[in-house]
Amino acid sequence: MAGVTRTDRCPGVLRPHLALDGAVVRIRVPGGQTTSSALGRLSRIAQRFGSGDLQLTSRASLQLRGLPNPVPADFIAAVREAGFLPSESHERVRNIVASPLTGISGGIADVRPLVATLDSALCAQPSLAGLPGRFLFAVDDGRGDVSGAQFDLAYRSVDHDHGWVLLGNARLGKLVPAADAIPVLLDLAHQFRAASRESRDVWHVRDLAGWASSVPGARAVEVPAATADTPLGAIAGAASVHVPLALLTPAQAAAVETHAAGPVVITPSRGLVIPNAADHLPELVAAGLVDDPASPWSAISACVGAPHCAKSLISTRTYATALATAGSPLPRTHISGCERRCGAPSGDHRDLVAPRQVELPRLVGQVR
Ligand code: SF4
Repeated sequence: MAGVTRTDRCPGVLRPHLALDGAVVRIRVPGGQTTSSALGRLSRIAQRFGSGDLQLTSRASLQLRGLPNPVPADFIAAVREAGFLPSESHERVRNIVASPLTGISGGIADVRPLVATLDSALCAQPSLAGLPGRFLFAVDDGRGDVSGAQFDLAYRSVDHDHGWVLLGNARLGKLVPAADAIPVLLDLAHQFRAASRESRDVWHVRDLAGWASSVPGARAVEVPAATADTPLGAIAGAASVHVPLALLTPAQAAAVETHAAGPVVITPSRGLVIPNAADHLPELVAAGLVDDPASPWSAISACVGAPHCAKSLISTRTYATALATAGSPLPRTHISGCERRCGAPSGDHRDLVAPRQVELPRLVGQVR
């Protein structure tokens, strides 16, 4: 087996991760683009087989936890029927983030069709099933949100017909016609895979020293980055809401399904953008979703922590809930049960790492 995949333990539907609360599966949702009915269906699958919540990740993917081990065949069939497993061979490499508001508000181009084409073209190339499960494509509509965060290969629109293909970061790339974006991205993915085959523990372009700068035509570029946080509230008729602690509960998923028929975008900042649902913000907020950027809930995040993760001695979510409900504004804060800092936001934030049991007032004191 090639070096890049030897220790690749990224979970998928067909390759669950085992935690203290049972099996965990990760479902890729390219560009975060789904629908309210698909989300509702997946929520019911989570309630039938697992903990009931849908966990949003920083790559706009979804995780289901608390599943039986081994994961039942009925569960996999249900996920497939709900449309979340279109490719068994490529399920763990469909890692594509995209500007969540593209085609809804702002941006230079609507990159939603590009995301769909990249996903299907990626899945059609057998050897790209061997990319690392952490390898990430980003498709940026020109506003600089997803190309301002970490990625491996990105396309960033410059105008409707052109864009930068970026290599490993936003400072090295080549200008290409939009029509060539997908073939160029896939060709580079093939080149990366070939160049990294014999290397151990190479997950990302940045792990392969000198590779990006050796790509023919690559040159230094200056593309300004923007915050990766999607604004909250009513935006061009859409409802943009934060999901507290990144856990979409059954009641919240039901509210989305009831009040918003049609597309839903999962955001890398653990929220949902729901086109044409701005009028239903009160009902979404009543279900526990957050539309107020000043809410402490939109500033606090936590890894899964105890009792679900063996590496944590603290219930990170209990601490996060205590902070969020204390009533005063918070700086952007992420609470982790160990130094791995799973799920930490990509932007500026304060890290609270508690590898040992720690009294809540002391931890809270580190924030205020
Ligand atoms: S940061 Fe550590 S304690 Fe938290 S989920 Fe990751 S491995 Fe577990």
